Amino acid sequence: LSDHNKHSWDGKRYHSLSYHLKQKFGQKVFKIPLDAGFTCPNRDGTLSRDGCYYCSARGSGDFAGTRTLSIGNQFEQLKSIMHRKWKKGVYIAYFQAFTNTYAPVDHLRSVYEQALQQPGVVGLAVSTRPDCLPPEVLDLLAEINQRTYLWVELGLQTIHARTSRLVNLQYEFADFSQSLVELQARSIDTVAHLILGLPGEGDQDMMASAQVVTDMPIQGLKIHLLHVMQETPLAQMYYRGNVNLLSQEHYVKLVADIIEHTPADIVIHRLTGDSPRDILIGPRWSLNKWEVLNNIDNELLARNTWQGKKAGSQRVTNIMRS
Ligand code: SF4
Repeated sequence: LSDHNKHSWDGKRYHSLSYHLKQKFGQKVFKIPLDAGFTCPNRDGTLSRDGCYYCSARGSGDFAGTRTLSIGNQFEQLKSIMHRKWKKGVYIAYFQAFTNTYAPVDHLRSVYEQALQQPGVVGLAVSTRPDCLPPEVLDLLAEINQRTYLWVELGLQTIHARTSRLVNLQYEFADFSQSLVELQARSIDTVAHLILGLPGEGDQDMMASAQVVTDMPIQGLKIHLLHVMQETPLAQMYYRGNVNLLSQEHYVKLVADIIEHTPADIVIHRLTGDSPRDILIGPRWSLNKWEVLNNIDNELLARNTWQGKKAGSQRVTNIMRS
């Protein structure tokens, strides 16, 4: 076998989510992004009213369903859009917008159950802040994890406290570490989010975040490009000259570096971010998502590298999982 064949996930040089889901379910799996009407402690005044400075008015759920519709109606609407392109498949209900564990536990239970009851749903994905997993919510998630496929996404973004303060995340790396321990103790698959291009961060800072996180017992990684969107505090910083936008070439190089340092068993959920065309200030090159993904593939090919090629042996394996 050539190196490429030995390190290929359906022809890709990284362990993609679509590969992972196809292996697990044996068919096309659609993620249905839902907006259950949650808010966020970083927006409702509990921690601040400004939000993370890059967060759009829709709480980073710009492609999610319409929050005024019921879960069932959002589901039907999004499903029919997806089936214009693909005929058959099953679904993962994806709670994406705002902080999807930030509500009384009975309400969370009711919302998650509504999603799980939709026909064809085979699992649940819940995206949240690292500081929003109190014990009763962890217990609910553990219970759901016993009977269906579940993953929880934690928006870490950076391990660096100075960046966290600069963009008003209102949580730090310690919150992420603690939540990860709790989730792993309950055998709940955990996906870490990182953002590349945050203000004040150089290549070494971004690589340090990636290195630290992929050495931890996570099951998935999501890499985003920092987007500057209209009507966000980040846009003000950008217009004052305090945000440098990454070039596509630079981003592709960084992503390839991260992929080769990421252990092969970690599922790569995303390598770019999506942002609505009408509110994106920059980088505008990111709107051409397929070009970015192709360039990442080409960079991996040109380097003859693949996910895990340079992964060290530092990784803490799943010793915390029972
Ligand atoms: S935690 Fe999420 S929803 Fe809340 S302000 Fe930050 S990006 Fe927006």
